[in-house]
Amino acid sequence: LMMLTKKLIEIRSILLSIDHNETLKLPSIVVVGSQSSGKSSVLEAIVGHEFLPKGTNMVTRRPIELTLVHTPGQDEEYGEFPQLGLGKMHDFSKVQKTLLDMNMAVTDTECVSDDPIELRIYSPNVPDLTLIDLPGYIQIANRNQPPMLKTKIEELCEKYIREPNIILAVCAANVDLANSPALRASRKLDPLGLRTIGVITKMDLVPPEMGTAILRNGDYPLHLGYIGVVCKSPENHDGSNMTNALIKNEASFFHNHHIYNQRDIQVGTATLRQKLMTVLEQSMGRSLYSIVDAVQRELEETRYQFKVQYNDRRVTAESYMAETMDGLKHNFKDFSYRFGKPQVRHEVRTMLEQRVLDICAEHYWSDGKIADLNKASPDDLYWLYKIDLASAALTKSGIGRSTTQLVVDVLMSNMERLANAEQFQYHPETRKQILNFTNEILRSKFLTTSDQVENTIKPYKYEVEITDAEWTDGVKRSVVILEKELELCDQMTNNIKNSVGKSKLKSAIRHVLDSDREDIRRQDRMQQLAEEGNGFSEELVINADDDDDVKPFYNPRLVEKAKEVLFLRDRAMILKYRIAALKSRQCKSSDNKQYCPEAFLNIVAEKLTYTAVMFIQVELLNEFFFQFPREVDDRLVYQMNRKQIQQFAKENPPIQKHLSLMERKAKLEEVMDKLNYLVKRQADRHEKPRSH
Ligand code: GDP
Repeated sequence: LMMLTKKLIEIRSILLSIDHNETLKLPSIVVVGSQSSGKSSVLEAIVGHEFLPKGTNMVTRRPIELTLVHTPGQDEEYGEFPQLGLGKMHDFSKVQKTLLDMNMAVTDTECVSDDPIELRIYSPNVPDLTLIDLPGYIQIANRNQPPMLKTKIEELCEKYIREPNIILAVCAANVDLANSPALRASRKLDPLGLRTIGVITKMDLVPPEMGTAILRNGDYPLHLGYIGVVCKSPENHDGSNMTNALIKNEASFFHNHHIYNQRDIQVGTATLRQKLMTVLEQSMGRSLYSIVDAVQRELEETRYQFKVQYNDRRVTAESYMAETMDGLKHNFKDFSYRFGKPQVRHEVRTMLEQRVLDICAEHYWSDGKIADLNKASPDDLYWLYKIDLASAALTKSGIGRSTTQLVVDVLMSNMERLANAEQFQYHPETRKQILNFTNEILRSKFLTTSDQVENTIKPYKYEVEITDAEWTDGVKRSVVILEKELELCDQMTNNIKNSVGKSKLKSAIRHVLDSDREDIRRQDRMQQLAEEGNGFSEELVINADDDDDVKPFYNPRLVEKAKEVLFLRDRAMILKYRIAALKSRQCKSSDNKQYCPEAFLNIVAEKLTYTAVMFIQVELLNEFFFQFPREVDDRLVYQMNRKQIQQFAKENPPIQKHLSLMERKAKLEEVMDKLNYLVKRQADRHEKPRSH
């Protein structure tokens, strides 16, 4: 019963998944031999499938760690590359292609690599074995290969044929054993030949007398002996069942030559398989206690690390994810409490007040007649018409759209802040997802909200009723707003003064004013000339330019600054004048609204703000605050499968470290349990015969 091998192979796979270091090694069978000695053929005969890459261009460039798993009673046969996660491969030509690709990924200049390829084959027809196929020994490197290749291959093989591994030295019968690099390497590391099996291939190519002589190994004795095989199937086999064709061919060969039927001669692939199983089982048995020791030590170290680094605190990918998402929802809730009606109102009001200032500037402050406004008669159509125009400019400026957009923008930037919070620094994908569905929710609410708002403010487009209290309040607020604007004007002027320098600016301003005055003078003169009649000559025009003296050169940017200061100076003057107007008797009542456009427009803006925010609150804000946490659950929490949750947790390096230490501990504990069971079983088996 090859129980131990099977169990230890399972254990080996677990150990391989937590580390590839040397301490937790279980014996494997390492296949070495010269190129073309028949190594691949022997391996394929053992597996019963053609699956190794073929070709003359060094197709084995990496070690292949082949684990055979005997699956009694199952029909399926398949290969699996645990490193690639491609799943089961039932088609062995696909296994072959994958191996070829993985080998050829090693460049021609490098030629061999010691990074192993893991391959597992599950079948009811294979024994439980672990075999390692290595690049074949070469005599000399050819032109395209690196000069050190021969040494590189030898070193790679030497690394693998160390204890406790079993060496399968493959030699062709038709090549003198004295020249076999495989036997030479074995002799170096296993001088007594205690863990080397000689496999003599191509027995069909030598006369039987010579064949038996080789197998009796008088010259190069090996404790485990030599086994002769014929691994070439007949040319015309149908390909469907390679093993059968092979074995039939081999069996008939050895059967036909009676000389091979002697007791001290071992021949045939079946014998080889049996031998490998027995030898590996024995070797596993010998390794059992040392591996138990090694695993015990590793486990203790891991437990110690877990205690020291994490104080035995457990974490799971699931708990980490739940915590992260709870953090997000918590921050969101915080934000939703802090961003209520008053905050939205503030945002909208600020925007509309700015718009009022723009409208005033455009319709009033830049009007040449503005100085006459307070002297105008109450039924002066010019000003009555103007106030209606300005009011329309405000109410018909797409309030629904712009206020909704404003709130959406504010929400979006706050959500960006939340998604950029510390807990998401390792999860850029998730962050993107959060912003995507935030955007989606807001977009889905946008149109209804902006339409609703636009509808409800419609009355203000035609008439605005104002109470006395509202009016007084509006006037007061307007004064404050204009004063702030005035302050801003002064500030900007001062900034320019400071950056340019007072005297430089002064002279630039004088230059601008002079040339303005000159422009006016010139225009007047032209006009005069034109009026004086009949075609002034070009000469005169040229002369008109002639009076230019040599002027200092002014940097165009400096001139720009000077013009800006002049503009600000005018603006400040008008603002002061308007503030005075708002404070005057004329603005005491809403009946005279045409005299106080700033107050009137600000009152309208306040009404618009109030109404718009009421609907934005209901249609957009409340909906969003309700929906967002649900979307977090639906789209993030419940959408992720186990693997994605693991992936998510591993994006965070400290968590990844914590998780992998826990995984290591768990796996070592599992291995330790299995080993303890095996140790007990071994002990029982040894005790029983004695008690009889
Ligand atoms: P590798 O380079 O060591 O893997 O050798 P292969 O298994 O690819 O075999 C090299 C060549 O020897 C191939 O053409 C095989 O068909 C041939 N060969 C392998 N085993 C035998 C055998 O037992 N008898 C004969 N006659 N040829 C064999």
